[in-house]
Amino acid sequence: MFPLPADLACPALTPESPVSVEVADAGQLETTWDMVEDHGRQGPVTLPLLVGIVHHPGGTIAIDSGLGQTTRDGTWPTFPFNSFKVTVPAGTSLLERAGIPVKVLLTHNHYDHVGGLFDLPGVEVWAGLDDLRDRLPATLRARVHFVAQDLRAGVVKQALGVPAVDVNGDGTVWYLGTPGHTRGSASVLVRAHDHQYLFVGDTAWVDSHLVDHRRPALISAIIDDDHPALDRSLTWARWIYGHCASVTVVAGHEPRWLK
Ligand SMILES: [Zn+2]
Repeated sequence: MFPLPADLACPALTPESPVSVEVADAGQLETTWDMVEDHGRQGPVTLPLLVGIVHHPGGTIAIDSGLGQTTRDGTWPTFPFNSFKVTVPAGTSLLERAGIPVKVLLTHNHYDHVGGLFDLPGVEVWAGLDDLRDRLPATLRARVHFVAQDLRAGVVKQALGVPAVDVNGDGTVWYLGTPGHTRGSASVLVRAHDHQYLFVGDTAWVDSHLVDHRRPALISAIIDDDHPALDRSLTWARWIYGHCASVTVVAGHEPRWLK
């Protein structure tokens, strides 16, 4: 096992919080289980491209953007990802579900988490510093206002035992450094009135990754940027999933959130 942060503890519930959260898909990907898990499961699966919609008194904050109109138009994603079977059913883009948010917090910079940003011109988008160094095309950089967050230990505060930025300064939404899947990968803790929600992006695609399964090794070799860092971040996410009844951990593409 990989070491856990020394000060990791389950967060208390916050019934007085003014914040509520929706978890919804902004697009769907058709694939097969053998591309998702490493334990021999077979057959087709529809993976949601999950977004978080945080209703805060200061305005809506979105977690990731899924895909949007550019996917319906056939211009996003670009090669080689345009061979994937992705759809954005009517009424399900982030813009259609939530309007234009005050800001978007990206868990990472992969195509299926950023495509919906094309629908949100000028919006403020937070990303881990290392995720702003590559992958994002100039067309997207010109479309929204990216703000880099340096999520290294000692640079920012801590939450759940990892480096974290208090997004609104009121302790309700925290942007956490959880690198590995990409070098700048982040998670988001939302301290809502009904529960604590931890969006871990693609540190785990599905709930089984939060228990004992992993991505198939060949898939992981291609898409995970920093394997030792991912092992640490996944160990951290698994501990919270397994120990904290106060926390709902949202894996990036878990089918149970499809409605
Ligand atoms: Zn990803």
